[in-house]
Amino acid sequence: MDLLNPLDEQRLKTYMVKAEERANNFLGYPIARDFDYSALYPLLALPLNNIGDPMVESTYDLNSRSLEQEVLVFFADLFRAPEKNWWGYITSGGSEGNLYGLYVARELYPNGIVYYSEATHYSVQKNIQLLNIRSIVIRTDEQGEMDYADLSQMLQTHRDQPAIIFANIGTTMMEAKDDLAQITTALKKAAIKSHYIHCDAALAGVYSALLDLKPGFDFTYGADSIAISGHKFIGSPIPCGMVMVKKNYKERIGKVIPYIGTVDTTITGSRNGHSPVFMWYAIKKLGIGGLKKRAEDSLALARYTEERLNFIGIKAWRNPSALTVIFPEPSLFLRQK
Ligand SMILES: *Cc1c(COP(=O)(O)O)cnc(C)c1O
Repeated sequence: MDLLNPLDEQRLKTYMVKAEERANNFLGYPIARDFDYSALYPLLALPLNNIGDPMVESTYDLNSRSLEQEVLVFFADLFRAPEKNWWGYITSGGSEGNLYGLYVARELYPNGIVYYSEATHYSVQKNIQLLNIRSIVIRTDEQGEMDYADLSQMLQTHRDQPAIIFANIGTTMMEAKDDLAQITTALKKAAIKSHYIHCDAALAGVYSALLDLKPGFDFTYGADSIAISGHKFIGSPIPCGMVMVKKNYKERIGKVIPYIGTVDTTITGSRNGHSPVFMWYAIKKLGIGGLKKRAEDSLALARYTEERLNFIGIKAWRNPSALTVIFPEPSLFLRQK
């Protein structure tokens, strides 16, 4: 390829210096940046593409399916998915995973109603609109957790329609966790047989499962699908995520497309082939022990941060076992820094 002209060369250099400088002061988003994927850099020279179903080999065979499958097996294990009855793929992030979970739920229950709390991630309302599903917003308490009495009342009122529960396993702002035990109790009380529970575990899913934090949210607690972000706790230079659903649910989705030689079971067409390799590398390098230690260290740091802030007179608090420390808005100067 030709060289850049000197002006553009300078622009790029300026940008790169700025990005590096920003990275050194970056705080306030739940994003890990302590990763080192330099061993994988040669792959950046290749147009990897995991287009289509991760379990069905494509004629586009310049992909990372074999590693993607190993990542999925890891998460099936971590989230205690029903044996031989799970399916998933590496997404572009938590949002796509949530969209997929809701898509599967709607295919299963076209006349279902989605119940989600007011602390739910902003992208969910848009996805509900895209899917054209009816929805009801449920109140939360002050800490951001779903108000189960409100949920119960809404379920009773609409008990003639299937219920699709969108549960937060760590809300974006306060990291509040909705309790699947209380949700299933509310469903039982309303005698709603046709129901579906999607867990938005984008933020807190990975470390909550690693440390077996309560309340539990995995498939054994009643989840029908779970979405996580890959660039948050694990860390990735490219935003990514993972979604997992019970396989028998998703079987009505996906057409065979001759030109890609695989099945169109995912939301997008082309899929990033590099991010599954980043995830695979992190999982293999840290191992389950290393990941658990990472989770414990993060919790210890959150505890320490809360204590130190309180010690100097700043009212800081956390939800139980949360990594998110909440405190009053600092000065504009500090925020910009
Ligand atoms: C970050 C986040 C999302 C969105 O995930 P992306 O990976 O940014 O698409 C959804 N829900 C919650 C609770 C989140 O914290």
